[in-house]
Amino acid sequence: MISLVGAGPGDPELLTVRGLRRLQAADVVVHDALVGTGVLDLARPGAELVDVGKRAGQPVPQELINTLLVELGRQGRQVVRLKGGDPFVFGRGGEEAQALIDAGLDFEVVPGVSSVVAAPAAAGIPVTHRGVSAAFTVVTGHRQRGEQPVDWAALARVGGTIVVLMGVAQRGVIAGELMAGGLPADTPVAAVSSATGADEETTRTTLGQLADTPVTAPATLVIGAVAAFELRSLPVGASANRR
Ligand code: SAH
Repeated sequence: MISLVGAGPGDPELLTVRGLRRLQAADVVVHDALVGTGVLDLARPGAELVDVGKRAGQPVPQELINTLLVELGRQGRQVVRLKGGDPFVFGRGGEEAQALIDAGLDFEVVPGVSSVVAAPAAAGIPVTHRGVSAAFTVVTGHRQRGEQPVDWAALARVGGTIVVLMGVAQRGVIAGELMAGGLPADTPVAAVSSATGADEETTRTTLGQLADTPVTAPATLVIGAVAAFELRSLPVGASANRR
């Protein structure tokens, strides 16, 4: 049996119970670079760990990963294919599922907590908020060859919150397109880096300033009025005189 498991955003506590059970029963774990060591530590002792994130600095071709999964599945081993966040959110999990279907193999998908929602939450940002944002749109900032370009002007017209994954490198271009599409330059932006991990960091800026604001990858960009929110409890001392 092969399980396509979402590892969550980084903090091992955000793995699902089912994901944890599959890891504890795994013979082999095939994982991406973005999966944190804390999650990998939960794999059954003795489980074989295969990193398909990068080989010699180059991403492992998707075809090879698909072939590996099919081979492991045919051996009848308990295989966990561990992917950051949710396996079906920009993780090419769909292509892997299709390869397993084509090979006639049994598999399941175990959803994960996606950085789409975990990163804003870590920064105290609600992606929707009554009276402020009635929608959130999720989009990749990475232009893949042969894919339809994102219609940023259309996104700007949707209103609500825009959540951009894989957008750090192109953030200046994205900001420019959204402003050309009608979003004001003072629209709040939050860039949440390494959400829920030890290096978590939130950078607050505006659309007009985004190009010139340093952001550390991996980061999730949150664009819209809610990006100015910081709904987190105050440090213990600071809250004492508010009771
Ligand atoms: N399947 C994943 C997304 C894969 S695309 C999910 O559901 O979360 C990779 C992108 O996800 C990164 O470029 C970044 O934008 C975002 N991302 C992944 N982990 C993150 C984290 N810990 N903090 C902030 N953003 C993260």
